[in-house]
Formats: sequence, structure tokens, C-alpha cells
Amino acid sequence: NNQAIIIGSGIAGLAASIRLANKGYQVQVFEANAYPGGKLSEINLDGYRFDAGPSLFTLPEQVDELFTLSGKNPSDYFKYQKLPVNCRYFWEDGTRITAHADIDAFAKEVHTKLGENPKNIRRALNQSSYIYRYLSPLFMQRSLHQGSTWFNKNALKAYLRLGKFGLFQTMHRSNSKQFDHPKLVQLFDRYATYNGSNPYQTPATLTIIPHLEFNRGAYFPEEGMHSITQSLYSLARDLGVTFHFNQKVERILVENNRAKGVLVQGKVHKAALLVNNMDMVNAYKTLLKDQRQPKRLLQQPKSSSALIFYWGIKKVFPELDLHNIFFSDDYQEEFAYIFSKKSIYSDPTVYINITSVYKKDDAPENCMNWFTMINVPNNQGQNWEVLKSQARAAIIGKINRILGTDIGPLIAVEEVLEPITIESKTSSANGALYGNSSNNRYAAFLRHANFSSIDGLYFCGGSVHPGGGIPLCLLSAKITAGMIPDA
Ligand code: FAD
Repeated sequence: NNQAIIIGSGIAGLAASIRLANKGYQVQVFEANAYPGGKLSEINLDGYRFDAGPSLFTLPEQVDELFTLSGKNPSDYFKYQKLPVNCRYFWEDGTRITAHADIDAFAKEVHTKLGENPKNIRRALNQSSYIYRYLSPLFMQRSLHQGSTWFNKNALKAYLRLGKFGLFQTMHRSNSKQFDHPKLVQLFDRYATYNGSNPYQTPATLTIIPHLEFNRGAYFPEEGMHSITQSLYSLARDLGVTFHFNQKVERILVENNRAKGVLVQGKVHKAALLVNNMDMVNAYKTLLKDQRQPKRLLQQPKSSSALIFYWGIKKVFPELDLHNIFFSDDYQEEFAYIFSKKSIYSDPTVYINITSVYKKDDAPENCMNWFTMINVPNNQGQNWEVLKSQARAAIIGKINRILGTDIGPLIAVEEVLEPITIESKTSSANGALYGNSSNNRYAAFLRHANFSSIDGLYFCGGSVHPGGGIPLCLLSAKITAGMIPDA
């Protein structure tokens, strides 16, 4: 039997479908939405186009690998360019820092603007690269739930260096030691938010994230982030994968602890191989509600969520780039609001992503498409209507103070995405962006494995090992497919 069914067409579900097709399986993907891509989709609004979810793209070779594996030329499907500037940072006191991709230029910039010793930048990024080199083969590229991961040469090398991986101090503490200027500590603390964590809690191990951005590079797909999932969808179809949209899986069918198929709109679809890309928590609560539950994993705290205003702006601001950050004056308080008070701070850090800087047709002439986002707690039943309107006013106030403008009248169109809509659109538990939170040093062990206790049922995606974000989701599909024999 070479039938395989994948539940969900998020980026990991798409990647898994491609890998299984390459292994000789006849793959069918059932997707609840009318479109593929899950969180990685797009919004079109009165002449403005927005990437709906992810905006930062690193490790593009992981996407290329899916094309080369399938005997295709990646650039026939998907093109991208390396960014010359990773991000522009703004503070209310008028400080502005351009994070050039060229590390020497960035070090020079922080020396000129903040008086920071350029050597501190080099040292911190070398440390990031060191941790990545030893931990990535162990924690990110393999299953943590198989003995072979723990008993091999790479694992031994990592054990010998355990004290150097920052497991025993927080990211904030580590950054405070690396840098002299508090603004640079804040800039590097922000990388915790790349997987929805709190820099004042998460272990310094997560300082591997700036390694990806600075040492490996940040990229922009020529047709926008949405073209990542669109191109994988085209590839999957070219490989013969069948997609069923608007087909929400209701139940995973299990007999004698073996996966047998899925139930969709009252109809049984049989397959001995199932890969679940739906959020793990909600999959257990719905599709697998009659099966044994991994209680400890289900109860883990979730990562943060986001509140996004997609704004069509009737003006071009030349000081803004693709990625822009307007920092809060009190970062620690902002995180206390997100993770402890489960609310939104009155002076939030605002991220503005503007793809029309690179892709002109994403906005009408002399206009920009602003994806304006703040980090917010995941959904715990807060009054989002109230929080949303307070946050909107706080965001506009912050932008006006920093850019010396009045942005309100320039907003031509608006759409909003919030934790409850993230949950309803993609089935993410509590609307969390990155599955279980990484706010403690055991987090890597508190994610669901890529296989399950039910024979023939596998898991991939941001809510399982190795975690959320495009690079890890793609790795999860690779680890999962690696466990499945050829058809
Ligand atoms: P998801 O995208 O969660 O998709 C799951 C799919 O399964 C959905 O299409 C859903 O409809 C479908 N599904 C669920 N239940 C069923 C069912 N019962 N039957 C059928 N189908 C079902 N990551 C980055 O790397 N960089 C970023 O800059 C970044 N920013 C982000 C900003 C936002 C606003 C958001 C929301 C996320 C961001 N992320 C970012 C995280 C990234 O988007 C996710 O980690 C990743 O896209 C998750 O992919 P996934 O494969 O787990 O599936």
C-alpha cells in the first residue's frame, strides 16, 4: 500500500508531501482552508498585497533542497535575493541604527552611533555561530526521541562543550555581558521574539538566531514570502500530489493502534501512512480525542502571538526599509505584559514590514504596504476588542513620534489579524505563532516527537520537534520523512 495522507498544507505539510512523493508514495493532502500555505499566505486589499504571516526568510537553501531532491531547477520555481540591510532600528530619542548585512559595516555603524566596541559584535556573532555549529546537528536536524541521536560523534562533541551553550543563563543576561550599550542589548534581545519567546526567560542558547541572520544572511523572495508556499505547492502538484481544499479532517482513524485513514465530511479515506501537520494540541483534542493523550505536552505554555495591522499607506517613507523596528522604551516591562500580565504594554515595540520597498507592485504608485505588527500574549480569553483599539492608538502614537508624522490620515485601507483569528484560520492552539514556548532550557524536550505511539501516524510542523518558524518547520518535514521507509 503506497497511499499517504497529509493533514494540512502549512509549509511543513507541503514539504512533507514533496518528500513522500519522492519516496514513491501516492500523496493526498487534506486542507481545511480554500488555499495552501497555512500561516504563510497572502492578503490582497484594494491594490495592496501583503504577506499575511512570516516576513523574515533565512536558510533559503532548505527550500532549494526540495526542488533539487525532486530533480528540478529551484530557480524555475522560486527566486530570492540576499538583503543588503537586515533591519532598520529606531528609538524615540532619535537614535537610528542600520543593521547592514555586512558585519563590518554594522560594527562600524554601532561604533559611530553608540560608541560600542566593534569587537563586541564580532565576538557575539562568533559565539552564536559556535553554538549553532554544535547544537544544530543535534537538536535541529534529528529526532530527539531516538537513541541514535544521543549516541554518536556529534552528540559527544556537544556534551563536551555543554557549559558553553548558554543553557544556564538567560539570553538577556548573556547579551548584557556581550555588549556595553543597552540599546545593543535590546537589539540582540529581540531575537528571542523570532520564536515567540521572552529574552528575560529564554536560555542564551537562542543567541544562535542572530547567527542565521548575520552570518548566513536574510533573504527576500522576489515574489514575496507567499511565493515560498506557492512554489512548493506547484512542485508538489508537478510530482503528482493531490490536494483537497475546504476539506477539514474530522478524525484520524485508528485500529489496533495502527493508523487506518481519516474521516472528512463523513467520508472515510484510507491510508496506512498519515502525516499530521495540524497543530499538535488541537489535533489531540479533536482528531485524536479517543486516543491516549500526551498530557504533559498538551499543558505546556505556548509561545506569544501577534497583532497585525495590514495598512495601505498613501505615502512613501524613504527612511524605511523592508524590515523596521520601533523599539519600546521599556523592553522588560513590555515582555512582562506579554508573558506575565497576558496583556499589551502601552509602549509596544512596533515591527513594520514593507515588501513594496523591494517588490514595487505590492502597493500603488507613491504608496507603501505596511505590515505593522506587535508581539502580544497568546489567546487566554482576553477582551481583544478593547486591547486591539488600545494597541492601535499606541502603535500610531509611537510611529508618529518616531517619524514625526501623522500616520492616521495616510491609512488608505486596513485589515487586522489577531490571536483569535490566527487560531481560527490555522487551528493554532491559543493563536500562538510558534507552538510550545521556548522560555525554559528544557523546551526542546517538551515538544512532540515527529512520530507517535500510533503506528503509521507521524507529525510535522511548528508545534512539534524541532519547533516553529520556516527553517524549523522545513526541518521537521525532513526529519519526519527520514523516518518513513520508501514506498
Ligand atoms: P501552519 O501554517 O500552521 O498550517 C497548518 C495547516 O493545517 C493550515 O493550513 C490549516 O488550515 C490546516 N489544518 C489544520 N487543521 C486541519 C484539519 N483538521 N484538516 C485539514 N487541514 C487542517 N516564521 C518565520 O520563519 N519567520 C517569520 O518572520 C515569521 N513570522 C510570523 C508572523 C506571523 C503573523 C505568524 C502567524 C507566523 C510567523 N512565523 C514566522 C511562524 C511561521 O509562520 C510558522 O511557524 C509556520 O508557517 C507554521 O507552518 P506549519 O507547517 O506548522 O503549519
